[in-house]
Amino acid sequence: MRNKYAGICYRCHGNVPAGAGHFERHQGKWRTQHADCAIKAKQEKES
Ligand SMILES: [Zn+2]
Repeated sequence: MRNKYAGICYRCHGNVPAGAGHFERHQGKWRTQHADCAIKAKQEKES
């Protein structure tokens, strides 16, 4: 799900402009990450 609001990426702690990343539900809270960071994390997991 694309983030509607700007936030801080929980992976690299950088600023995520609205629409530039993803929101996800985690332990009852919403967290934000860059789309790029999500792809990177997925690749690292699979390799
Ligand atoms: Zn990031």
